[in-house]
Amino acid sequence: MHFGKAVAAELCKMSGVCSYLRERCTSDHLWKRHMKEKWSRVVGEEAWRKWELQVALRRDVDVGEETGGVRSKGWMGWLGCVWPLSWLKRKMEDGRKPWRILPVDSLISFYQALESGRFSFPAQVYNRENGNAGFLLSCYDAEISYNSRTNKFYARYPPHGKRVPAIEEVTWERVRAPIGTSAHDLHISECLTELNPGDHIEIQWRRNKKFPYGWWYGVVGHLEVCDRGEHGCCCHASDTIVLEFNHYAPGSRWRRKIINRKEYREDGNEDGFYGGIRKVQKKEEISVWKQFCPAEVQD
Ligand SMILES: [Zn+2]
Repeated sequence: MHFGKAVAAELCKMSGVCSYLRERCTSDHLWKRHMKEKWSRVVGEEAWRKWELQVALRRDVDVGEETGGVRSKGWMGWLGCVWPLSWLKRKMEDGRKPWRILPVDSLISFYQALESGRFSFPAQVYNRENGNAGFLLSCYDAEISYNSRTNKFYARYPPHGKRVPAIEEVTWERVRAPIGTSAHDLHISECLTELNPGDHIEIQWRRNKKFPYGWWYGVVGHLEVCDRGEHGCCCHASDTIVLEFNHYAPGSRWRRKIINRKEYREDGNEDGFYGGIRKVQKKEEISVWKQFCPAEVQD
């Protein structure tokens, strides 16, 4: 048996056979690859931090129990967080001792917590509230948890004012790891000096200052004065940048946004506020946005 090539489910099964296999099958070395393959696109730094915090808390409870101190749900309780309780029950009925508790800080524990859906974590969802044209080509924060039966995620969005959006089931394609700036902070736009026509961008936008920001997709366009033909493009020399949101119809107030390259800060009115800008550089990221571009323009 080549352990490095075993699929995650096989490793889980084998780890229950004997202590030797358990040691081999639960090692972080093996699970690094499985973690990366399955979860790296949606599990970001914030999710790792949340997991680490949970691990630290569990360790405290564990120590408390050993010394006869704090009573917690007991090991069955939190082992159930890592392995399905039905599996544990079966093991007990078999008359065999359930094998030693998995180290909570191991990667297999994290993988299992994600896989079982018991661990929810911060991520971002494209086109939230699917079918709602008001969120087309945007990406918003959500707390997500995996549903292995449907191979989708449950997404819970933070409230927008008094409105609490319904929990939605979303596909893998519509989820990404958060890009680093909190939905309540203005992103620092480090890319402004280098933006040129044709570049892909995301800009923060929020309805009002009490709402969280979402990220909205657009491209950098040419200035009206730019002669793209004979004399070449002169846009890079201008302090003015035109951001285009081409999925809105010509004439729509959402179609273009003019900004100043040198002096840019949050800018808005009763229609909403534009925040920080990030240049989308990775091909994979650009193609994700493109796959959501609608065939018809929006009003
Ligand atoms: Zn130009």
